[in-house]
Order: sequence, then C-alpha cells, then structure tokens
Amino acid sequence: MNNPCIRCGLQRIDGKSWQEKSGISIVTYTQTLCPDKLCQKEVDKAIADRRAKSDDLAKKKSQLLLRTRAGMKLKNRLVTTI
Ligand SMILES: [Zn+2]
Repeated sequence: MNNPCIRCGLQRIDGKSWQEKSGISIVTYTQTLCPDKLCQKEVDKAIADRRAKSDDLAKKKSQLLLRTRAGMKLKNRLVTTI
C-alpha cells in the first residue's frame, strides 16, 4: 500500500489498529504513523490545529447567529416602545 507521509514523503508505517462495528459488518481501522517520530509529532500538531480551527469557526458561526437573532429581537422591542 502506498501511503506516503504528508509532510516528509516517507512511507508511513502501521500504528495501532482497532475494530469498529459499522452496521452488520466490522470495519478494521489502522492508524498510520510516520517512521520519523519528530515528523509524526508535527503532523499530529497540524491535525489538532486544523481541528481546533474548524471547531472555532463553527463556534463563531453559531455565536453570530445568536447575536443576529438577539439583535432582531432588540429592534422589535425598540419599535414597540417608540
Ligand atoms: Zn513524515
């Protein structure tokens, strides 16, 4: 299986593998690791960073939505008090 490291291009090696039930079948997942431990650390960090960023974005989006709703409510109230 050709599975080069996204960072250094070395052939990745099999790390831990686990099985998960998917409907009626059991799927085996295998995590691959870069043979270079330092490089793998960097890759892990990059993945964690990306995940944190997309989490952040999702949070910001829902906050914006809430704020917009609150703003609309405020406007309505102002209109009724005038
Ligand atoms: Zn690597």
